[in-house]
Formats: sequence, structure tokens, C-alpha cells
Amino acid sequence: MGECEICGAGEAGFFILVEGAKLHVCYKCAKHGKVLSAPATMPQRSLSVSREQTERDIVADFGRKIREARNKMKIERNVLAELMNEKESFLERIEAERTIPNETLARKLEKALGIKLFEEIKHEHVDIRKDKKGELTLGDVVIVKKK
Ligand SMILES: [Zn+2]
Repeated sequence: MGECEICGAGEAGFFILVEGAKLHVCYKCAKHGKVLSAPATMPQRSLSVSREQTERDIVADFGRKIREARNKMKIERNVLAELMNEKESFLERIEAERTIPNETLARKLEKALGIKLFEEIKHEHVDIRKDKKGELTLGDVVIVKKK
């Protein structure tokens, strides 16, 4: 390809016509004349996104964990409910996994019972690139569970 015949700096990929003269120019200088030919291969637009996202999710067996920890510590459900400032029936539903505690309550339960109710789930989105038509294609999406 060689250097641009106008600025001498850019890489000449375009072939343009300027006042009857044919010049090899870079893409910046192509606007100075009539473009006769553009590079056959335009630089491929590739957008490589490596995004890391960590989400915290409540464990699937949170109810069992709470119940087991509570039994181990010999705390009655109504006592724990009082500690949590919640209704016993509400706690019962949580232990039966019919209700998912909100994060604040789950944190309090973790502290009170010395258990872990959250697990970290790491999502990694790898390599989103544009194909020749300029359409986005999604590469592999890897989901890694971290314990
Ligand atoms: Zn140039």
C-alpha cells in the first residue's frame, strides 16, 4: 500500500482522482478528491467487551439453612421473629421457602444465626464483536458460580 501521497503520514488505502491526477491517499485525505477505489478490506470493527459482573443471590435452600441454624442454636421461631422484628408467621413462610426475605432481613438472619444466605454469582460476558455486516454477534457467555 505505501504512504499517503498527500499527507505522507497515513497509510494509503484509497485511490482518488484530484484534478486529473490519480493519487494513493489515506482515508483522511480521500475527501480531497473523487474516490476511485476504497480499500477492499475495511478495518473490521471489532468490539471486544469483557464485562465482569458480580451479583449476589440468595441461596436456594435459605429456608432450610435458617431452620437448621435456629434449631442448632435452640432458638424458638417466635424468639427469632422478635429478634428480627418480624411476625412469626412471616418467619415461618421464609423457613418454608414460600417467601424470599429481602436483603436487609437476610443480612440480619445471617448475623443472628451465623450462616451464609448469599452466594456470589459471577457473570462474564466475553467478546461481543461486529461481523462483516456490522451486526453484533454474541460470543460465549460464561457464567461462573463462585462459592
Ligand atoms: Zn493522507
